Amino acid sequence: MNWESVAKGLVSTLTMRMVLAVFSAVVLHELGHLVFGRIVGVPVVGVVIGEGRRLFGWRMGAITFSVHAVPFSGYVEHDEYYGGPLTTAVLAVGGIVVNLIIGISSLAFCLSGEPHWADRMFWAIALAHLGLAAWNLIPRQFEDGDKSDGLLMWEALCSFMRGKSVAR
Ligand SMILES: [Zn+2]
Repeated sequence: MNWESVAKGLVSTLTMRMVLAVFSAVVLHELGHLVFGRIVGVPVVGVVIGEGRRLFGWRMGAITFSVHAVPFSGYVEHDEYYGGPLTTAVLAVGGIVVNLIIGISSLAFCLSGEPHWADRMFWAIALAHLGLAAWNLIPRQFEDGDKSDGLLMWEALCSFMRGKSVAR
């Protein structure tokens, strides 16, 4: 099998390209939350990719990973933690940091150097990652009471500033 022509075939379909790009952006975003959260001691217990019917999952240590039928959103589950606003800010910013790094690098790859057959895939990756970062930065609360990364970061910043002025 000629893998390069398989890859070219996938990349040539706009729908397939965007599905792959958005799916990978969501997975890497949630892994960003997981890694940044673990660094500041947040007890992460689950990483969920997608909505709807659960397709498959696995366990790694204390963390359960699960993939659902419509894989264009996700969230990280964690137990209670007592780290203060800075901990929350680091947990919330993790996904966005990963999206910005990958989005900006992909864009730089597309804009620089020789044209490459995979450029169209990298444009899609750049669009998906930068779009997801921007989307998550919007401060808003969901119907189920969960807060967006942007709102968590904003609230953490406000409470950090308040804490600072009190401690002065
Ligand atoms: Zn997020």
